[in-house]
Amino acid sequence: MKIKEITAFPIRISREEDSEGGDRPAVIDFGDYFVDQSAFTSIYSKHHETTVIKIETDTGIVGWGEAQSPVSPKTTRTIVDDLVRPLILGRDPFDIEAIWTRNYGAMRERGHPTGFYIDAIGGTDIALWDIVGKATGKPVHKLAGGRYRDRVKLYAGMGGTDPQKVADSAEEHVGYGYRALKLHLLLDATGVAEIARAVRQRVGPDIMLMCDVHMRQSVTSAIKLGRELEKLDFTWLESPLVPEDVPGASRLADALDMAVAIGEWSRTRYEMREAFERRAYDIVMHDIARTGITEGHRIGTIADTNNIPVAPHVGGGGILSVAATVEYSASCSNFMIMEHSHHANEIKNAITAENYGPRNGYFEVSDRPGLGIEIDQSLVESFVVA
Ligand SMILES: [Mg+2]
Repeated sequence: MKIKEITAFPIRISREEDSEGGDRPAVIDFGDYFVDQSAFTSIYSKHHETTVIKIETDTGIVGWGEAQSPVSPKTTRTIVDDLVRPLILGRDPFDIEAIWTRNYGAMRERGHPTGFYIDAIGGTDIALWDIVGKATGKPVHKLAGGRYRDRVKLYAGMGGTDPQKVADSAEEHVGYGYRALKLHLLLDATGVAEIARAVRQRVGPDIMLMCDVHMRQSVTSAIKLGRELEKLDFTWLESPLVPEDVPGASRLADALDMAVAIGEWSRTRYEMREAFERRAYDIVMHDIARTGITEGHRIGTIADTNNIPVAPHVGGGGILSVAATVEYSASCSNFMIMEHSHHANEIKNAITAENYGPRNGYFEVSDRPGLGIEIDQSLVESFVVA
């Protein structure tokens, strides 16, 4: 079997409101994009944006993948067109790991070990796994380690700035069947603790709670905040510091009894080496639509070597990111729990031929070949960014 063509579709699906983010602190508006005024924080799209990747083979089997592109998906398309395409045309799709390594090496000397370039090769990797699954009639998880579990446990995300509104949203999601929730709180430590208290009070002691503070803390404020969250029985404190501060994360992980979870920004085992060596986290949360399934499994294995559980990040990833993460999670020995966006899942499904989603806080692991999801190309094309 040979790879005949690869096509990247940068897509943008409009949404009425930010259903998971809730109210945000003051923002600077750039039209389609915005940033928070308060700090050096991420740029966000008002829409759902990502890059869908299609790979065709000479046998007629087609694979679909996704390179997570929450902003500027056209950048990822250019990388696929100019760099990935010439490197992979004519290759046997079963040479998945060799293809990842060939792609990775092509820009290494020039200093592109992460970012958009690795997203592009990660999305390509996912599409290749879909092809191999379809060619063998097996779901991806059966080929990438085997089935460790029949269903994948999810936590649902929500955010906001008003304690009672965030508690309302938490209660709503418990009503949908989720037994684990994560709060995205873009406030100072005092504001975060206040909302955390309101949510714990509302949902009671039996719901697993986590808190993502999106890099807004210092080591000392994060220690203080973590001690407050420990009293409320929160399971993890996520992304407390800027990614560059690995020594700070290590100090924080030592200081707190609760778990520190980081890693959504890292795409390779090389990038994560220092954090593993310094034991800078208790839970690792790499994103499969950034790492691909191949490199995601390598990172998971290193985590396992260090006795660290895996809680894959999905964030703004699209429906192929979700499906690839379910397949990865089913086949990951040290899997803990997967991120999910309950309301956004409906928007993400705008490119599927049949709805792909969880039930009562779990994805049932499917027996369908490949990623187990049906993409409708005409729908994908209808959302392509000009
Ligand atoms: Mg996060």
